[in-house]
Amino acid sequence: MAIKLQPKHCQCGCGGTCKGNWIPGHDQQLRKAIEHEVGGLVELRRIVEELLHRSIDVQPTQHTRKH
Ligand SMILES: [Zn+2]
Repeated sequence: MAIKLQPKHCQCGCGGTCKGNWIPGHDQQLRKAIEHEVGGLVELRRIVEELLHRSIDVQPTQHTRKH
């Protein structure tokens, strides 16, 4: 492919440039920072559910659910 990708700014806000949306690992760093800020993934889900006025359902992968 001869398409030249324009470097983009990393979405985490670090000011770095990358080919995709993230410098490798920075998406996880942003997730961690958000979780830290709101008090964890469970809190984050609760906040987002409040904003969206609906619940976030986890789509189970092909594993059969154990009861
Ligand atoms: Zn970054």
